[in-house]
Amino acid sequence: MDMARIAALRAEPVAPAAHLIDGTRRPASDGGTMPAISPIDGQELTRLARGTRADAEAAVTAARRAFDDGRWSGLAPAERKKVLLKWADLVEAQALEIAVLGVRENGTEIGMALKAEPLSAAATLRYYAEAADKLHGEIAPTAADALGLVHREPAGVVGAIVPWNFPLMIGAWKLGPALAAGCTVVLKPAETASLTLLRIAELGLEAGLPPGVLNVVTGEGPVVGAALAESMEVDVLVFTGSGATGRRLLEAAARSNLKRVYLELGGKSPNVVFADAPDLDEAARVSAAGIFRNSGQVCIAGSRLLVERSVHDDFVAKLAAHAEKMQVGDPLDPATAAGAVNSQAQLDRSLSFVDEARAAGRRIVTGGSRILEDTGGFYMAPTVVADVRPDDPLAREEVFGPVLAVTPFDTEDEAVALANGTDYGLAAAVWTGNLSRAHRMVRRIRAGLVHVNTYGGSDLTVPLGGVKQSGNGHDKSLHAFDKFLDLKTAWIKL
Ligand code: NAD
Repeated sequence: MDMARIAALRAEPVAPAAHLIDGTRRPASDGGTMPAISPIDGQELTRLARGTRADAEAAVTAARRAFDDGRWSGLAPAERKKVLLKWADLVEAQALEIAVLGVRENGTEIGMALKAEPLSAAATLRYYAEAADKLHGEIAPTAADALGLVHREPAGVVGAIVPWNFPLMIGAWKLGPALAAGCTVVLKPAETASLTLLRIAELGLEAGLPPGVLNVVTGEGPVVGAALAESMEVDVLVFTGSGATGRRLLEAAARSNLKRVYLELGGKSPNVVFADAPDLDEAARVSAAGIFRNSGQVCIAGSRLLVERSVHDDFVAKLAAHAEKMQVGDPLDPATAAGAVNSQAQLDRSLSFVDEARAAGRRIVTGGSRILEDTGGFYMAPTVVADVRPDDPLAREEVFGPVLAVTPFDTEDEAVALANGTDYGLAAAVWTGNLSRAHRMVRRIRAGLVHVNTYGGSDLTVPLGGVKQSGNGHDKSLHAFDKFLDLKTAWIKL
């Protein structure tokens, strides 16, 4: 990585950011702004437009017009493909600049951010661009006197509300298939991660997205996000974030136009280690990365470690050793393994879970406190809490921070019961050298993604989505198109 370039980029002032509506940058309708605080040092990085309900409505109107007049939905899919491919190239060409800007705003370590943010977004845009002209309708197997055609039509105006942990990766998971399908979009970034989404949206315009096809409105969730959820003109709402917000979105859809709502709500993912795992050292190393990279602010983070009792103590010691070796700190240092926690609020939330566990007598094996406070930034030591009981908040609630809850088990049935003992069902992992057990566990764990002998790292070709209270619908893979394409039947008498 080019250290000198990173140093130069981090010193650049960041201009105040306006919305992107109908192809132009616009301030908030009432002139309001809000700070973007850098978690690296707790200082104001720049100011963002504090969106109003009128701003959200203006963006929806622009997206509606752009959809209805066919400037995008009416193009041949191969034409949309060209624009999206060019967009991906522009994002990739500026990957380091975009990654550094994002790190300054959300704190993810640069090594991860570069790959997981601009480069991943570019790959996602390409994947869906290339698929755009390969989606076919169907001819139904009817009797000879009828022809049943099933068209797949773009669903209309999409509202996309995304979080701060991986704004570009998650944003592109929504934008790629929505735009490739021919929909238009109003995107609402998180309060603490807006700048890179605005930056890539501008690159989209440069690549040839017509005005109004992609609009970005910054601001507060309960104002801008709520306006999208309540809009009568938004046809599909896609969301990644907390369950509490997800519930509000469903209620707003029910109160307004019954828009389809797709939710990705995180998890409390079990990482199940059996004594017969092929390589316990490797399992400990990968499990540590699976909870502590990006300071645990990962929706699929393996935040509950379930370990077979016969190897429990050794395994926890190995994992704690990895946690202690991880370099935590300046996220713009390429050697950093875990950067800053996104905000003071997230830091406080993680610390409060640890305080609660400590007060309940659980064992803090390592970490458990804020570090590097003198930087003014928000940093937390990777934390391992052992002897966590199934009913503890730490075993049931999503912390979304660098806190691992460890619980021993004795039998496969007990491991399954513990693994399934939360309201969530997003991700899981099983470590075992027994092939039959691996497949049994994949079947028995209720989650949208079950890793075997690894954690994380699945690619775009497979779907990601939750069951139970982790949500519905899927990001990634060709299945993601289902959210943005309506089926229409033509029944023709011959
Ligand atoms: P959040 O759900 O409040 O925010 C996510 C997005 O929703 C943001 O863009 C936000 O502005 C918007 N939003 C907030 N309130 C809204 C409302 N009333 N109507 C419409 N939109 C609204 O999540 P958060 O406060 O950023 O984080 C809280 C918790 O959410 C975390 O601790 C974590 O458990 C979870 N989370 C999960 C993921 C994930 O990847 N699944 C990502 C971020 C946060």
